[in-house]
Amino acid sequence: MAGLIPQNFIDDLISRSDIVEVINARVPLKRKGKEFTACCPFHNEKTPSFTVSENKQFYYCFGCHAKGNVIGFLMDYEHLSYVDAIESLAADQHLDVPHEDNGQVNQQKQDKQPLYDILKQASELYQQQLKTSERAIDYLKQRGLSGEIAKQFKIGYAPDGWDFLTSHLGKSKEHLLALSKTGLIVNKDNNKTYDRFRDRIIFPITDQRGRIIGFGGRILDQGEPKYLNSPENAVFHKGYELYGLYESKQALRKIDLIIVVEGYMDVVALAQHGINYAVASLGTATTTEQIQKTFRTTHEIIFCYDGDNAGKKAAWRALENTLSVIRDGMVAKFLFLPEKEDPDTMVRKEGKQAFEQRIKNATTLSEFLFNNLISESDISTQEGKALVASKANKLIQKMHNSLFKDLLIKQLSSLVGLSQQHLEAKISSADKASKPVPKTVKPVRGQQVQNNKTRIAITLLLQNPMLASHHKVPDDFKNAFTKGLPLLYALQKTIESNTEISSAALLERFRDNEHEKALQRLSMLQTPETENADNIIEVYKNLIERLSYEDRDEYFNYKIKNNEQLTAEEQKEYLELCIK
Ligand SMILES: [Zn+2]
Repeated sequence: MAGLIPQNFIDDLISRSDIVEVINARVPLKRKGKEFTACCPFHNEKTPSFTVSENKQFYYCFGCHAKGNVIGFLMDYEHLSYVDAIESLAADQHLDVPHEDNGQVNQQKQDKQPLYDILKQASELYQQQLKTSERAIDYLKQRGLSGEIAKQFKIGYAPDGWDFLTSHLGKSKEHLLALSKTGLIVNKDNNKTYDRFRDRIIFPITDQRGRIIGFGGRILDQGEPKYLNSPENAVFHKGYELYGLYESKQALRKIDLIIVVEGYMDVVALAQHGINYAVASLGTATTTEQIQKTFRTTHEIIFCYDGDNAGKKAAWRALENTLSVIRDGMVAKFLFLPEKEDPDTMVRKEGKQAFEQRIKNATTLSEFLFNNLISESDISTQEGKALVASKANKLIQKMHNSLFKDLLIKQLSSLVGLSQQHLEAKISSADKASKPVPKTVKPVRGQQVQNNKTRIAITLLLQNPMLASHHKVPDDFKNAFTKGLPLLYALQKTIESNTEISSAALLERFRDNEHEKALQRLSMLQTPETENADNIIEVYKNLIERLSYEDRDEYFNYKIKNNEQLTAEEQKEYLELCIK
């Protein structure tokens, strides 16, 4: 269940989000009548049976029966936990996820706030220091950076000295603790501390919402290490963050492509030359999480590396990680710079236009993949071909089903002279062995009697929550005899707790409930009753009245058949029912 995130927030989040937009950003959709379709991202198919309903804000696959609302989609598609799916959706809407005032999550949040505060104060202090240090200003000027760019990226300067931060920001025990938790100061054995960043240019690293979560520091002169990062801490997780992503989003309304580079200086230098769509991974390899995050912002990624061996290796890691996240409609390319050059030196040397020309000519993923494999073996021999096929198979197995995957298999087939069917069979058999068997759908635990009208009533109420205020479900449905009526009652009560609730949010309230699967199925059900919008209230009202009558009737029949005694009150009710 939702746990500590207030239910009303989740309702509201679902109503604000558009499932078509969210899915379309990941799986390009085509309009088909009232709905949208695509080839299903959850099973292998050539003709689209994956359907997204804009009205209902649900998706459904007629092939593999995957279904759900926007949160369920994010959980399944991006392998997110429930809370992470909500966080991700909220971040898209620029919303903070509130947590109810109890428990661990709130505690964690309280623990984080002082860290954000101290990081912000430190950043401001470093920026002030930059203004007073001629040496640092000269250094940046020498690298061709203007004051505007320094300001845009909040570049600062950490002066030389061991206790600059503690003397300015370590005013209290709490401040000192926060400084130490962020890693801005380092604790020594003798209870003393010293500043981590000394005599360095400071690049603040921001999260998706623009909060400073850590710093990168570059040395001004010669010295080691050239670059120094904040250590991981409660708010800074290297493998998840990208330097410059927030700034790109601020600078551009629509981002057609993103170039992933290695260093802070590269991002800033490119921005200085008007290429403000560069981000840096905060380590040598770009992680799958970073690639996923980037693909949420754009459809095209250009990985840019040095042409030397280390660069090629890093690029190959990026390729491997890209394969496991790439879907149709996403593009990944690789740009190798001449040896000894990086984007910073390159763009300063040749300018924006020439650099953008390099981006245009970047190597496609498939080219890089196959060229690299071929370079490692002699494909004029059968042995070499087999080696290429087996290596390529291992990589292709990681991919989601997509046309792109099919094309790679086709290319491999012509390269090694094995039929596509043969390769596909190999890939999918390995695939099946590595994937867990999907959970089977549990039947709805029912009571004694089934009544098809119940299904229709539940469907109507689920798809049109406003019906709850037009015709109330009677209280005795709570313990009704007929299967499904207690669920109808539960739906009524849930809607009463938030009369504005949308269908998709209503479904969300039943996540992990025993009826979740049944409700998901009914949420997409189309019947003459659900399709006839004109007299839906009337139809629903009649259904409820009819169900109420039939339930009591069944109940009395059951009692009488089993020779159970009716109470005086029941006898009276039964008589009334009989003459109805
Ligand atoms: Zn499917």
